[in-house]
Amino acid sequence: MGISLLFGAPAHDTLAVMAAWIAAAVFLGICSILGRTDRVANARRAMLANALCASCGYSLDGSEPQADHCTVCSECGAAWRLATQAEGG
Ligand SMILES: [Zn+2]
Repeated sequence: MGISLLFGAPAHDTLAVMAAWIAAAVFLGICSILGRTDRVANARRAMLANALCASCGYSLDGSEPQADHCTVCSECGAAWRLATQAEGG
């Protein structure tokens, strides 16, 4: 019965079922990407809170912040605005 909805139905119903499946796949894909992005942001925040480069994990302790208040990682060259520096404005 369920399979007849897919293969025995008129063309416009088949298209509607296909559109619903495609919409569901797109929705799940977006949820997956958003969830991964959130986890990456959390990991980056945790590393920067511990003065670690969020790109390579190198310690940023002792590195002087630049004029734009970003600390440049001496290992990989990535620039980060550490939480304690952002407070000083
Ligand atoms: Zn680095």
